Amino acid sequence: MNQLHARYPFLASAREAVEAAEVDLAAVVRRDGAAVERAIERVEHALEVGAVGEPYRRHRVELLSYPVARVLVSLVDEHVLTRKYARAEAVTAHERIEADLADTTELQSTRAESITLTNLLAEFDLTADVYETPEGYRVDVGAYLGLAADEWGDEWRLVNRDLQAGEVPLSEAELLVLVRQAVRKRVADGLPLSVPDAIGDQLEPEVAQVRETLADLELMRDIDTVVPDLFPPCMRYLLDQVQKGEHLEHHSRFAIATFLTSIGMSTDDIVELFQVNPGFGEEATRYQVDHIRGKTSATQYSPPSCKTMQSYGDCVNMDDLCEQISHPMAYYEQQIDDADEDDLLDWRERERESSTS
Ligand code: SF4
Repeated sequence: MNQLHARYPFLASAREAVEAAEVDLAAVVRRDGAAVERAIERVEHALEVGAVGEPYRRHRVELLSYPVARVLVSLVDEHVLTRKYARAEAVTAHERIEADLADTTELQSTRAESITLTNLLAEFDLTADVYETPEGYRVDVGAYLGLAADEWGDEWRLVNRDLQAGEVPLSEAELLVLVRQAVRKRVADGLPLSVPDAIGDQLEPEVAQVRETLADLELMRDIDTVVPDLFPPCMRYLLDQVQKGEHLEHHSRFAIATFLTSIGMSTDDIVELFQVNPGFGEEATRYQVDHIRGKTSATQYSPPSCKTMQSYGDCVNMDDLCEQISHPMAYYEQQIDDADEDDLLDWRERERESSTS
């Protein structure tokens, strides 16, 4: 476990180093207080600052705090935390990569364990998709779209890029932004993990602490706020159809019901919303929503991705934001993130009033 692994714990070689050392994660959470403490710091910093903080001085502690942090995030299992944590790991990695690439000191160039752009591209299977030109870099459009889709800002839209022969020209700084997206995806991959009880029980106090921080920051309430004005166009359309009493195909009912449960609506509220439609029997709707929620089944269902929505013809009235996301939940989260705090308070107030009236 060297400095490179400690600075970039998402690298395949870092994982291999942990495996080679035959680290028992249950023993780490039981005995390695420093690693657990640094793991909490990673997660809380992610929520509060949007990065994961300064590295611990001992490489082993810093590296092991990464898998422990992923376990913590999995145990808390809140979408907003997972999203913010993965983004924060990527932001910190990006800062470190920029600093390391700019570091041309002799020590850096002679250190075997330094990061290079070539290694990073290989790490994320991008070697064949990127090549250097006198002006900067060129990236295959498929790879570009896969990574730029989650970047905000018009400059990342393909229509604003000088696409030539299936390749997008980029500066080194822009290429590093795409690498940051690749890191984010790598960190988020597999989350939430299924955590053995032996580890989960041990980390109960830490999980409670992170939950408290989350509650203090009121981030969970954000996504749990039901603001139909901010719904993605597809869900606004489906809700409109429900309220107009129109017949909905099974896949469309599933899409709107999973979306409403995912943003925190109760079964009662959804049943009430659907009741205006003669095609929805109360019992059947209640059963279906409880099933989706995982109350009467082993699975908790998520809303379909934009790709699936498109294949069923449920993707309608796309707008500019739609071109930058790949999931209706991402659309809604972005809208909530961008909304004015005063407006959100008004919406919450109205919501409370309507639920008590
Ligand atoms: S692109 Fe996605 S979010 Fe937008 S309307 Fe289509 S399915 Fe909905």
